[in-house]
Amino acid sequence: MKPVALITGANRGIGFEIARQLGSKGFEILLGARDAEEGQAAAERLGGTWLPLDVGEAESVREAADWTRSEHGRLDVLINNAGILLDEASGVLDFDEAAVLATLQVNLLGAWRMASAFAPFMERGGRIVNLSSGAGQLSRMGTWAPAYSVSKAALNAHTLQLAQALESRGIAVNAVCPGWVRTRMGGSGARKSVEDGADTPVWLATEAPASLTGRFFRDRREIPW
Ligand code: NDP
Repeated sequence: MKPVALITGANRGIGFEIARQLGSKGFEILLGARDAEEGQAAAERLGGTWLPLDVGEAESVREAADWTRSEHGRLDVLINNAGILLDEASGVLDFDEAAVLATLQVNLLGAWRMASAFAPFMERGGRIVNLSSGAGQLSRMGTWAPAYSVSKAALNAHTLQLAQALESRGIAVNAVCPGWVRTRMGGSGARKSVEDGADTPVWLATEAPASLTGRFFRDRREIPW
């Protein structure tokens, strides 16, 4: 039986590429996406399964978890990739409250509710990878896109807590900055291809030593929180 991997926001960008690479490594891939047409098209291209999933909606996450459990019985790898960047043009003081809430709803709570819904049927050796960002590093915190940056710092804090909560069950949980990647979010001027951006997330989901947990990585190297 193939190991099962679920990638959120897999219809495009880094998520699609992570799904492609995991598929080529022999995983059964479940492509989480909120748009039916895009989700189905991506799944068809990669020979995976589209899983209807809006990580901003608790009910959608619950339904996806119920389906995965009844169809596959377990999940081996969870990649929390879905993310939004709404406030590149905002300052810390002239902030848009709705944008802050929407950003936290997806970037923090999305990953949190995914872990809570799917970890119960992950087994020893399972891996959870959270797509974070250098923008969320407290040691280098700036003022760019304040809601996005705070959401990724919060996601990092959640990663540390989740790693501790799942340590006794042998499930590794790590955060990763993919680098600046050419996607709709990263823009066409970004330095990295999606192949390079997906490399460290895929490494953490597969070949990285299972003892690595509760850490933050970029380019397969640990970086400060
Ligand atoms: P894109 O904007 O290209 O893709 C984002 C993906 O997330 C899309 O598939 C989108 O789906 C999905 N998504 C957004 N909201 C939801 C939701 N509520 N439920 C389900 N899916 C959702 O971004 P990237 O591929 O560039 O980024 C992937 C991850 O990497 C993000 O977490 C991002 O913060 C992080 N990252 C990216 C960097 C970069 O330079 N690109 C740098 C650092 C971190 P839809 O098509 O439906 O909108």
